[in-house]
Amino acid sequence: MAVLPIRISGDPVLHSAALPVTKFDRTLTTLVANMFDTMEAAPGVGLAAPQVGVALRIFVYNWSDADDVVWRGTAINPELWITPTPTGEANEESESEGCLSIPGERYGLRRSAQAILRATELDGSKFEIATDGWLARIFQHEFDHLDGILYADRLDYASAKSVGKVLKKRGWGIPDQSWTPGVDHLED
Ligand code: ZN
Repeated sequence: MAVLPIRISGDPVLHSAALPVTKFDRTLTTLVANMFDTMEAAPGVGLAAPQVGVALRIFVYNWSDADDVVWRGTAINPELWITPTPTGEANEESESEGCLSIPGERYGLRRSAQAILRATELDGSKFEIATDGWLARIFQHEFDHLDGILYADRLDYASAKSVGKVLKKRGWGIPDQSWTPGVDHLED
């Protein structure tokens, strides 16, 4: 299996809606295995297919909760229901979010407290997870990727402005920029 380059904000594949998966074949199995390798190498708790340049509605996640329960899986053609997003300012510590497509940065962002994810696993089985807290946040973040939305698109004015500056300074925010976990150490 392989670690894939991760596209950086500015690449068109990250800013357009992905297409539903229709073929559950070996190509899909390989893609998902490579996505897990890439997510683990980064390291990250979630990764969506557009982040590795594939415009398909797939994300993987791997996160351990406070009780050391491991939440790990593949969400293909997911649907997501969320409670209303709370208003007010985000807590910069407890609500600090990052994205492997804007490596090395974190910003406070308010997210819905609860989410229900319905999706198909790699073996074709359907599953549903009703969750809250950080896993609900991961699902919202990854689901957004499939609609071409980065968390930076949801930040308040000051944070969005700061992201813009970072992208510019690092020569990002334009097409064809990527980084490779294990080669470019931008998140560890
Ligand atoms: Zn992301």
